[in-house]
Amino acid sequence: MATFHDLDLPKSLQKALDELGFTTPTPIQERAMPVIMSGRDMMGIAQTGTGKTFAYLLPILKQWKFAATDAPRVVILVPTRELVVQVAEEVVKLTQYMSVRTLGVYGGVNINTQKKNVYEGVDVLVGTPGRLMDLALDGVVRFDSLQKLVIDEFDEILNLGFRFQVTSILSMMKDKRQNILFSATMTDEVDEMLNDFFDFPEEVSLAASGT
Ligand code: ADP
Ligand code: MG
Repeated sequence: MATFHDLDLPKSLQKALDELGFTTPTPIQERAMPVIMSGRDMMGIAQTGTGKTFAYLLPILKQWKFAATDAPRVVILVPTRELVVQVAEEVVKLTQYMSVRTLGVYGGVNINTQKKNVYEGVDVLVGTPGRLMDLALDGVVRFDSLQKLVIDEFDEILNLGFRFQVTSILSMMKDKRQNILFSATMTDEVDEMLNDFFDFPEEVSLAASGT
């Protein structure tokens, strides 16, 4: 895959990508995208700044088909409010010529406004584990239509103490979905969660080159 054009993206997505000015995939994008497009579960390990967001957004959006449902088809879990805003903005930019409803949810702000937003219909939901768990336990967010779960910065999510919230969210999801996980490092806790909740995701590791 020399350039993103080799991905054969739909015109609407390619146009948005062109406007962002990105032409060449980064190494983690090059390695993770084919695995994600194959539909297999994946655990990607690469340091910060290597381009992990597009590594999962492009394959997910490439396969996008209109569906008449108001429940999210894609859920992206990230550790912080700042990352919710950042990732949601990237989704909005990439989908500006597509019909995709994107929403970010996080704690520290009124939950009722977010509930109203969810009820209006969401396709891609980006959230922190705490707020997403609360919205799901309330029955506001439903996972009936979920096709892809992304857990981004899995190590950081666990470092921040969100293991219970992630476990609780996973227990509300049906099994028939693709899991796409990313972490900067492979910690014992990430490894434990993989063993407990995920069925041998294919590992794509961008080893730090110290040579
Ligand atoms: P990570 O999640 O691995 O920390 P990001 O996905 O946030 O990395 O990307 C880091 C930066 O690189 C962002 O500013 C992003 O817009 C940019 N970027 C991502 N992919 C490419 C690419 N293929 N070419 C050029 N810049 C890219
Ligand atoms: Mg990232």
